[in-house]
Amino acid sequence: MALSGVEIFKLLPKTNCKKCGQPTCLAFAMKLAQRQATLDACPDVSEEAKKILGEASAPPVRPITFGSGDKAVKMGEETVLFRHDKKFVNPCAFALEIKDTLSEDEIGKLCGQVMSSEIDRVGQKLRIDAIALSNVSSDAGKFEAAAKVIAAKAAGVPVIISTENPQAAEAAAKLFAGQKPIIYGVNSSNAEAMANVAKAHKASLGVYAQGLEELSALTEKVKALGIEDMVIDSGARRAKDVIESNTLIRRAAVKKNFKPLGYPVINFMQREDSLHEALVAIAGITKYASIIVLSSVEKWKNLVLFTLRQNVYTDPQVPMQVEQKIYKIGEPAPEAPLFITTNFSLTYFIVSGEIENSRVPCRLAVMDSEGLSVLTAWAAGKFTASKIAQFIQESGIENEVSHKELIIPGYVAILSGAIEDKLPGWKITVGPREANAIPAFLKTRAA
Ligand code: SF4
Repeated sequence: MALSGVEIFKLLPKTNCKKCGQPTCLAFAMKLAQRQATLDACPDVSEEAKKILGEASAPPVRPITFGSGDKAVKMGEETVLFRHDKKFVNPCAFALEIKDTLSEDEIGKLCGQVMSSEIDRVGQKLRIDAIALSNVSSDAGKFEAAAKVIAAKAAGVPVIISTENPQAAEAAAKLFAGQKPIIYGVNSSNAEAMANVAKAHKASLGVYAQGLEELSALTEKVKALGIEDMVIDSGARRAKDVIESNTLIRRAAVKKNFKPLGYPVINFMQREDSLHEALVAIAGITKYASIIVLSSVEKWKNLVLFTLRQNVYTDPQVPMQVEQKIYKIGEPAPEAPLFITTNFSLTYFIVSGEIENSRVPCRLAVMDSEGLSVLTAWAAGKFTASKIAQFIQESGIENEVSHKELIIPGYVAILSGAIEDKLPGWKITVGPREANAIPAFLKTRAA
């Protein structure tokens, strides 16, 4: 059971030394109770207290690493129901289902789709994270053969070995030794044999039951067999059931510290219609799924799901921002155009992307606006004429360029006169309002 702030306080040194960053031990205890701090921040806590508090302060959703190397996926560790309370910790993983009834060529092609799925968005690499090999044939030999193709064609990609047959699981798990696969398909009748396979191959288990009661009993049983690392499936498949079941699981784990449901959730979204599948997956992303298994990974769908996942798993209290500096796009000569914008990541990546598209080498002055976009920063007084002038003067850009022309975003055209007043000798040019008009804008200037 979770301890209250006062119960935790009784176990702390009570010296109010502030080494944990809190003004008092009581304040630290309250933070611990709300899971807004971790025990290791107090260097003086006794071993006995550590033991008692360790369990109480462990994240309510067990952390699990799936796969190995640079493609390893971290799951769980979540502590809240809502991202405005605290950032969600580990983004859900997307897995493509590959059926063992497919031909070697077809399996190879799907592996290729996973391997080439990575895109770069606002500086982050996003991709289909895993493959879920499914024993649709119920034939252990076919399953092993399909696993061999995946091991060869999608080396390093984390794998979910999906079968209810312990022999088939064993044969496939051997091929992914040291790669921490998930063996999915554990039920009340095969739990013991599957636990043995998982122990032998250092795999996690994917536990499946119909409903939360049966699921809780099963995770307890698997835990008693010596397996701690599990992902859980309540059997929910319809969007409504996924939302309901995932919410009940997260609530039980976070609010009640109910350990039998304190594991990452795996959801199977497969639909024949890809748009329908994307919509159900969206329900899973927004409501607590840790792994989402898809039946296809078209580029349009990836873009939708990657973008949503990225947005849900960023910290809403910390705007995404890039470093304040003068960025060179291409190899700009001293006479190359100089733009200015704010340091909100999305703004920076969109503006720099459009300048790149124009193929005109430029400089882009990115000013610290605490991660706000142009209009918001202007309204908040963080992108004003005097601040822009100060930034340009202090940046030393005058020594790099052979002109004194600064192109400002069209949305803040109103600032042009004031900037010219504060930056004597500079010409302020009003650029386009929208970044996608930058290539045409640059073309017109060059003509
Ligand atoms: S570091 Fe430990 S002893 Fe010091 S104030 Fe924080 S909780 Fe109390």
